[in-house]
Amino acid sequence: MPNWRRPQCRRAARCTRPRLGALLASAGGASDLRTSKEVVDYTEDSAGVTVHYTAGDRERADLLVGADGLNSRVRTTLVPGTESHYYAQGHRVWRATLPFDGEIGDGCPVIGHNRTRGTLMRFAQGSCCWVIAQFGHTTENTANPQEEALAKAPNLHDGRSRFALREAILATPEDSVMRNQVAVVPEIPRWAGSRVVLAGDPAHAMSPHIGSGASLGIEDARVLGDCLNRADIAPTLAAYQENRMRRYQQVRAHADAMAVAPTPASYVERFAHYLNWLNTSARTNPATEMGPGGHAERKKLVLSASTSFRYVEPRGIEPLTPALQRQCSAN
Ligand SMILES: Cc1cc2nc3c(=O)[nH]c(=O)nc-3n(C[C@H](O)[C@H](O)[C@H](O)COP(=O)(O)OP(=O)(O)OC[C@H]3O[C@@H](n4cnc5c(N)ncnc54)[C@H](O)[C@@H]3O)c2cc1C
Repeated sequence: MPNWRRPQCRRAARCTRPRLGALLASAGGASDLRTSKEVVDYTEDSAGVTVHYTAGDRERADLLVGADGLNSRVRTTLVPGTESHYYAQGHRVWRATLPFDGEIGDGCPVIGHNRTRGTLMRFAQGSCCWVIAQFGHTTENTANPQEEALAKAPNLHDGRSRFALREAILATPEDSVMRNQVAVVPEIPRWAGSRVVLAGDPAHAMSPHIGSGASLGIEDARVLGDCLNRADIAPTLAAYQENRMRRYQQVRAHADAMAVAPTPASYVERFAHYLNWLNTSARTNPATEMGPGGHAERKKLVLSASTSFRYVEPRGIEPLTPALQRQCSAN
């Protein structure tokens, strides 16, 4: 029998992307930042890189970090033929952030019927954020994403308690609902040239159900920064590539295992297995050492399970198959 329990309070800081962008810009030196410049191409040599912008102007630099997202121009120039593609089995996500002071429940992810997953959580400054994700969704978009989200929401509810997620969807202005068809980047053979390197989604955009895309990107930035502080650019890029490609392959193996989980219970078990791996490997991975109270220190993992808004502490979870375990073995 699973051990049902209330979730522990999780320590997390939440803020919107514009706010995060402003904080990073001020930390990095806003005066050095130029926006509204679109990279269309680059040429590199052993001494540096020349970046080409849409307006026809060019800029010379020591290093180009391609952090230009899922449809990265830098990636497709570095490794042609690596365009992103939609997730093969169909995966759509509906979400919104809205002002909301009402009761939202515990904010844990819910694994529901029919491969629907979702959450409603408190967000920064008197707002909340809801997300509904549907695996195996292959039908065409309708004109109304909000109605699509409402149609999926009952898969996440036991019909007994108050349905705060549905209330939040209904309270969302229709034009604030975002709908994504999830796309991924194929595994690519290299992340670096002599003066160019990829970081974040350009290198490893994967299905967001494992919640690791941004986290891996933040790790990329940390490792790249550390490497650049220690060595010349060429050996730095080789060391960075080796570190990050290995880490990505481990995370990706967990993501693939979760994507084919046949039942809600097995999804939760695999997610718990992933989080336990993340906690363990965090202690040996310089990118994820966060010190007292940080992620690496967390001892207990709490996940929601099935449609009943109950919570399981994943003790005694089933191990993955030996083949997957080998793929997922720690650093
Ligand atoms: C529905 C959904 C839910 C998700 N949930 C999670 C989660 O729970 N946890 C998690 O860790 N991750 C999650 N992710 C993934 C996460 O959002 C991405 O991995 C992350 O945003 C990638 O960050 P990035 O900086 O690499 O790319 P982006 O955030 O895409 O930033 C790329 C930037 O480059 C700019 N750009 C693009 N092209 C050019 C160009 N040619 N020239 C100049 N600039 C350019 C863009 O304007 C943008 O500012 C989710 C993703 C989705 C779609």
